[in-house]
Amino acid sequence: MGQYSYLSHLECPKCGLIYHTTGVQQLCTCGSPLNARYDLDSLKKEWNPEAIQGREMNLWRYHELLPVREPEHVITLGEGMTPLLRMPSLGMDMAIPQLYMKDEGLTPSGSFKSRGAAVGISKAKELGVSKFAMPTNGNAGAAWSLYAARAGIQATIVMPVDAPLITRNECIAAGADLYLVNGLISDAGKIVADKVRSEGIYDASTLKEPYRIEGKKTMGLEIAEQLGWQMPDVILYPTGGGVGLIGIYKGLLELQELGFVTGRLPKLVAVQAAGCAPIVKAWEQNASESEFWSDSQTIAFGINVPKAIGDFLVLDAIYETDGAAIAVTEEEILSEQRLSARLEGSFICPEGAAAFAAARILRANGWIQDNEKVIVLNTGSGIKYPETISGNVPLLNPGDTIPKALT
Ligand SMILES: *Cc1c(COP(=O)(O)O)cnc(C)c1O
Ligand SMILES: [Zn+2]
Repeated sequence: MGQYSYLSHLECPKCGLIYHTTGVQQLCTCGSPLNARYDLDSLKKEWNPEAIQGREMNLWRYHELLPVREPEHVITLGEGMTPLLRMPSLGMDMAIPQLYMKDEGLTPSGSFKSRGAAVGISKAKELGVSKFAMPTNGNAGAAWSLYAARAGIQATIVMPVDAPLITRNECIAAGADLYLVNGLISDAGKIVADKVRSEGIYDASTLKEPYRIEGKKTMGLEIAEQLGWQMPDVILYPTGGGVGLIGIYKGLLELQELGFVTGRLPKLVAVQAAGCAPIVKAWEQNASESEFWSDSQTIAFGINVPKAIGDFLVLDAIYETDGAAIAVTEEEILSEQRLSARLEGSFICPEGAAAFAAARILRANGWIQDNEKVIVLNTGSGIKYPETISGNVPLLNPGDTIPKALT
């Protein structure tokens, strides 16, 4: 019988240094995030797509490729194996007949952040962590607070005062130690870094611990499995810190090495808001890193990240797959969000709407070609963002009748 996890070591993608996985590790001494590496040679001999069939319908079905060594350390709320839905009407509307949505709105806490939290918290528990701190734009803090509550770990969360109110309330409900900052996620990050430095507690900031990304990579594993181990042509992802995109890329590379998939990897597209587009700017200049984006602003709060620590990894994934980076306006986001609800009955989050809007633009300018299979990540549920929709609704008194013209 094989092992539960084939995790072997941590490796720095920048300088190549290797670290063990038996204790807490944060960044490499060179400042780069660390990558979890698996013993794929051994796993390849014992694992194949048939072995996964019939397993539980959540992300732990891929436990060999996840970092948690003992099944009893798994903290789960049933996350993962979200639907990969065809979007025939929206697809027709944007001339992409093979348009699919990977719908992360069905994940516990309503965003894909629960994938990273499930794996990150489970591994933290396995490593004996009792407290952590993290900055967030809302959804990650909510997810990590909830999984931390289930694990009996204490969470300290710092988020912008403008983050979606529901995410604040999720942290409060879960009993996290929550702080609001009158600023951006980058300001929250500095406050957390200071707390971590002075108290020596676990830093769960984006990519400063190596395991959150392992949870997020399962989006890539699931897409491949749900397509019968075939690769799509294009995957569009609303990019903030970029962990989801780097994770999908990492997951697909691992599947390729294991022989589960063959051929060309999909072109990966990082989608940002015009009000916060550092990755897009860097890609347009063919740069390998991004620059801090001043006065960033967008209704798609999850992608309001002015400078991502893993920007070089995001850009690398785009360049390596012949992908692209593209920015969309607030109007395009809001109109796509409405269209998705009207044409498909799916109330998506503004970040997901940004990715659909990008698909529309890339199809119109020919970058997406005829009959390509296109996957859009809807990273969260629209019901977490009730303020993005408004309308004039007539108010009736008891006994009123509905005017004829409106029926
Ligand atoms: C965090 C978040 C994103 C951005 O994800 P990254 O992996 O950090 O790029 C996109 N959409 C939603 C809803 C989010 O919460
Ligand atoms: Zn290094």
